[in-house]
Amino acid sequence: MHTPLHSQVGSLLSYTHDQPLPAGTVVRVPLGQRELMGVAWAAPHAAALPPGVVLRPVAEVLDALPPLDAAWQRLVAFAARYYQRSVGEIVHTALPPALRKLTGEQLNRRLHAKKKPQVATQDAENSVALTAEQVSVCQQIAQHPGPFLLYGSTGSGKTEVYLHSVAQALQADPQAQALVLVPEINLTPQLLARFERRFVPRFGPQAVVSLHSGLTEAQRLKHWLAAHTGQARIVLGTRMAVLASLPGLKVVVVDEEHDPSFKQEEGARYSARDLALWRGRDAGAKVILGSATPSLESWYACQQGRYQRLDMPSRVAAAALPAVHLVNLRQQPKSTVFAPALLQAITERIQRGEQSLVLLNRRGFAPVLWCGNCGWKSDCPHCSAHQVFHKGERRLRCHHCSASQAVPRCCPQCGNPDILALGHGTEQLQEALAQQLRNVLRPDGQPARIARMDADTTQGAGQLQEQLAQIHDGSVDVLVGTQMVAKGHDFRRMTLVAAVAPDAALMSSDFRAPERLFALLMQAAGRAGRDAAFMRQQGSQAQMWIQTHQPEHALYQALQHHDYPGFARQQLQERQQAGMPPFVFQALVRSDAKTQDDAQKFLHAAAQQARQLPALAGVFIYPPIPLAMQRVANVERAQMLIEAPSRSALQKFLHAWQPLLHQVRQQHRAVVRWLIDVDPQNL
Ligand code: ADP
Ligand code: ZN
Ligand code: ZN
Repeated sequence: MHTPLHSQVGSLLSYTHDQPLPAGTVVRVPLGQRELMGVAWAAPHAAALPPGVVLRPVAEVLDALPPLDAAWQRLVAFAARYYQRSVGEIVHTALPPALRKLTGEQLNRRLHAKKKPQVATQDAENSVALTAEQVSVCQQIAQHPGPFLLYGSTGSGKTEVYLHSVAQALQADPQAQALVLVPEINLTPQLLARFERRFVPRFGPQAVVSLHSGLTEAQRLKHWLAAHTGQARIVLGTRMAVLASLPGLKVVVVDEEHDPSFKQEEGARYSARDLALWRGRDAGAKVILGSATPSLESWYACQQGRYQRLDMPSRVAAAALPAVHLVNLRQQPKSTVFAPALLQAITERIQRGEQSLVLLNRRGFAPVLWCGNCGWKSDCPHCSAHQVFHKGERRLRCHHCSASQAVPRCCPQCGNPDILALGHGTEQLQEALAQQLRNVLRPDGQPARIARMDADTTQGAGQLQEQLAQIHDGSVDVLVGTQMVAKGHDFRRMTLVAAVAPDAALMSSDFRAPERLFALLMQAAGRAGRDAAFMRQQGSQAQMWIQTHQPEHALYQALQHHDYPGFARQQLQERQQAGMPPFVFQALVRSDAKTQDDAQKFLHAAAQQARQLPALAGVFIYPPIPLAMQRVANVERAQMLIEAPSRSALQKFLHAWQPLLHQVRQQHRAVVRWLIDVDPQNL
């Protein structure tokens, strides 16, 4: 028989076994001196072996485990083909690491281990009576094939629609399973608890499991096995969950479908959202994408009739969306960090016992140190980036490589003792606010408390949950943070959100930057005024403040009117005129080398090879260029954009081209790494 093996090598390998093994069977096989786990694969054309070659036998068949089903194999094969990776690599990504280390006997023990009886199950949380909007949306989902784009603002009751659709599918079929994808690991506990309350009493303790990178290897294996054996009825997780084995898949939900974190940015660069769509369609499952600010790809797919759009315009339990105030920084003194009117608004909220959120997407104290005497800057010696000043630690840190150093006492170039910190980071905002609000008292007579939440303050185990708890219990009055605080959290006492310097995204060379900024600001706005009862009791009105040099910009104007459709219309028009996605399809070839010249030479040679391919017709190859972040950790990075009028044209070309790229690589030894990124999200 033909048993291709997955391994780090990533190629398909052949072994013998005394009986035919069904495809999808998990096996252990020898490779050199080692023994590795593999999956039996159906080889389309089992080539005759060259004479004299003797295959080694499969070492062990893990037959306690039901074979991975045909649908899962199709998913893996599709992902490998579409993202230009080997089947082995996708299998490797999809299976839990702990499974690779198990022998058949250990696996047997695990699968037949006595299940602990859990305490008596509490009564099922009653599903709420759906609103008229929710009823209509759920009916559409039940009656039509989809895929669906559920477009509804934060608090419009989308999650309730997911819960309802999942419940319907699970009740209709005792084998049915649901996959629910969320963008942020930090948001899984909240949603997991909601799904557990709803489904565990009815379907048992293992009915809902999570899959994300925060689990231990043992937990991940346990949850994966529960999904594979059908014991788990709902798998809730981050992007990696899309590759789980789910033999009964009937419903797929992708919440916050626009979120960039659904794209894996290393190794096999897959989009979990796109794979979820493919997988759902292949399995005949209902696919529901949900968002208040859908990706322009999905919005456009609705316009073309490829997805069915379902609208939920009203907020259920939350107050009205916040009123948006634009502060024109052109009319403020140059050094303004907080406009006086904004400070006043925050002050009033502290005095009333309400919370405010200040958003700045830059951590540290200041992005660069500068000597006014000789022009020295705190550049990272290894990257084309500045080292960021972290005042609390007295260190300069590069956010792109691990390099850091003590802050110099004087200019390392000319000895000038007055080095200046240019620009602002969250650390500085926290300090400035503490200074400016030092005399403001809360209703309980205590001084205002300004907290900060970003990657620097949430590194330790449990730090994030601890900080979130302090916000929820009201001991924090103003929270300064990066985009991690803007997403999903249900802060009940928050009534004001301010973005103090969002303009940078408008200068970005990445054409997706405005789309991302709009989604981020809408999501941040959704943190204010979530609890209508609290707002009424306070007599307060939710506000979103934006400090900008371009208040007349179409993006901010659309934001002021909470007008996602208007923003999308304008962006899609621009993209159509400029010939950008979703009107064209892209892939990037990236190459890294010691010098920019070496990195680009490889790309030039690759483009040269492409010219002989008939599949190049209609496909456009742009000249190689350095990445915006050109050098990281002493490696020069270059990229070359490929553009095609259709997905199929792009795929056809990439397939013809890939073997040539491997050959070119052999001739360019200076290249340390190269990769293809299909449907790249960062340009
Ligand atoms: P979204 O996912 O769109 O942000 P949710 O489903 O989380 O919205 O709903 C927002 C809030 O409204 C939640 O507190 C939820 O419990 C409540 N809610 C949703 N649907 C209903 C309903 N039909 N009746 C009462 N409360 C509801
Ligand atoms: Zn100097
Ligand atoms: Zn660096």
